[in-house]
Amino acid sequence: MFRAMPELAEVEYFRRQWNAGIGHRVFGIKLHAGKRVFRGTNTRALREELGGAHLLTSEARGKRMLFRFSNENWLGLHLGMSGKMQAAAPDFHPQKHDHLVLYQGKRALIFTDARQFGRVQFHHGKTAPRWWENGVPEIVSAKFDRAFLDRFLNRHRKASIKAVVLMQSGFSGIGNWMADEILWRAKILPSKRAGKLSAGERDELFRATKFVARQSLRIIGPDDSTLPRTWLIHERWRTGGKCPRHKAVLRRATIGGRTTAWCPKCQR
Ligand SMILES: [Zn+2]
Repeated sequence: MFRAMPELAEVEYFRRQWNAGIGHRVFGIKLHAGKRVFRGTNTRALREELGGAHLLTSEARGKRMLFRFSNENWLGLHLGMSGKMQAAAPDFHPQKHDHLVLYQGKRALIFTDARQFGRVQFHHGKTAPRWWENGVPEIVSAKFDRAFLDRFLNRHRKASIKAVVLMQSGFSGIGNWMADEILWRAKILPSKRAGKLSAGERDELFRATKFVARQSLRIIGPDDSTLPRTWLIHERWRTGGKCPRHKAVLRRATIGGRTTAWCPKCQR
């Protein structure tokens, strides 16, 4: 399984696990009411409304997901730091950390979160819940364009570019490994101030961000081994890990509050 906190790509992988249940009815629900993942959520309404409803569609935005059910019901999931989702056999027995299980005829849809920084939200209504609309463009959408990127970099010009690429208000769904992958591909030193990037570096950053988001959404499997061998991710955790381009030993330091890996030759 994934070694890192869930990011855009991992969220997409988990969303697809639950998509196995699209078009099917929920017959039973087991949940750990009172657990922190349900903070602010009416678990009684969730239980009453989702019981008997069909799962219709799903959507992901950054690190968040929204599952739409029949009868105007909506379930929001956020994986936090350790959240996971799976589809299992319908006789599944929830363990300590399996906080929500939706039982369908042929499967159980399970939300698991050991550390409980994740979140389960429920909404009943004609349209998507207000908490779903946060106005941040998806990276793979046309709304995330050069003009948006420029405005965002200008607004945070004093912060290191690594910290900026981790900001969910601009780089929706990007977490630590994807940020390092993007900056390595764009050949930008992670500690460089956002305001110091040249026009050429901004171009590279824009291209690399789109590329890493698109490719990882497309390729991601049950772990990161499905990503191409030429990517930084396979080297960044390894002691003595090397740049996939020319084998320079990677450097590591805490930048933007997170352990950051970069190549001292490519990223100056
Ligand atoms: Zn290099």
